[in-house]
Amino acid sequence: MSTDIPTPRGSLIANRSLDSLTWLRVGGPAEWLFQPADEDDLAEFLAALDPAVPVFAMGVGSNLIVRDGGIRGVVVRLGRAFNGVEVDGDVLTVGAASLDAQVARRAADAGLDLTFLRTIPGSIGGAVRMNAGCYGTYMADHLIEGRVVTREGRKITLSAGDLNFGYRHSDLPEGSVITSVTMRAPKGDPDALHARMAEQLDRRDATQPTKERSAGSTFRNPAGYSSTGQADDTHELKAWALIDQAGLRGHSWGGAQMSQKHPNFLINTGGATAADLEALGELVRRRVLEESGHELQWEVVRIGEPTPEED
Ligand SMILES: Cc1cc2nc3c(=O)[nH]c(=O)nc-3n(C[C@H](O)[C@H](O)[C@H](O)COP(=O)(O)OP(=O)(O)OC[C@H]3O[C@@H](n4cnc5c(N)ncnc54)[C@H](O)[C@@H]3O)c2cc1C
Repeated sequence: MSTDIPTPRGSLIANRSLDSLTWLRVGGPAEWLFQPADEDDLAEFLAALDPAVPVFAMGVGSNLIVRDGGIRGVVVRLGRAFNGVEVDGDVLTVGAASLDAQVARRAADAGLDLTFLRTIPGSIGGAVRMNAGCYGTYMADHLIEGRVVTREGRKITLSAGDLNFGYRHSDLPEGSVITSVTMRAPKGDPDALHARMAEQLDRRDATQPTKERSAGSTFRNPAGYSSTGQADDTHELKAWALIDQAGLRGHSWGGAQMSQKHPNFLINTGGATAADLEALGELVRRRVLEESGHELQWEVVRIGEPTPEED
């Protein structure tokens, strides 16, 4: 472990377990978990940090498998100082730690339509990084620009064009942290927007295992999306259908299971390790390839090291 780590104003904890900070409730420790006091604290800390130390920004862990041996280097997790939503006309300025659902509700109160964010359980930083979306709308459709602190500790602004959005993807310099974004949203009637969000929540609960420990869709849909993430119904091919056809709905490995309710959701039924989850995912990829010829790609971000025994 590095001994000459800078001393920030915020919280810096060595060897902090990450399992309780991810939706799947698995994963080993971060060598260092850093919660900056504010943007200056983050920038100064990164500028002073040995360039050889890796930095990983995490949101609320709703799209992550952290491996059982943990993450080397510094994991940055933004806290309350990066929360907050300001509305000016049809433009919202949002802290990267704000939850998607909170932003959707706040926008609706102001008569602005970001309803697509209501059922996505992540933070705005994670939503930008992953170009999160549903019901045919994506972050790419709304983002004006994002404030970012680079791995070297520089504060920069990236436009939507710089981020080069694709399906569940944006280009972000390695080790950098999104701290806030500005977004534009179309106008709508507040009551109608809240009613639509309530319907969307019901629809989710009916079709997805929203009460289980998961990280959302495990694999990307193999085709049917343009580079900006727009759905193209003429070619749409669903990962869940390929998994179902391969007979893997409900299939389990250790404490990991492909959900009975939605077979593209990998769930921790209780005692799963990250290794169980990843092994089941790889088994699914092999079987689907054999059955259908389609090579599924992980949508869930897998990060960190296996334990020495697993290795
Ligand atoms: C039940 C369920 C349903 C879901 N439904 C959807 C859906 O409909 N649509 C959808 O798109 N996703 C969905 N997801 C996946 C997930 O919620 C999104 O990908 C979300 O945007 C991840 O945000 P997060 O804050 O949890 O990021 P994390 O999971 O913590 O991290 C994901 C990625 O974002 C990066 N990241 C996070 N914060 C920052 C930051 N501040 N700066 C730089 N990089 C950052 C991380 O480095 C990592 O690469 C679902 C997940 C669950 C559990």
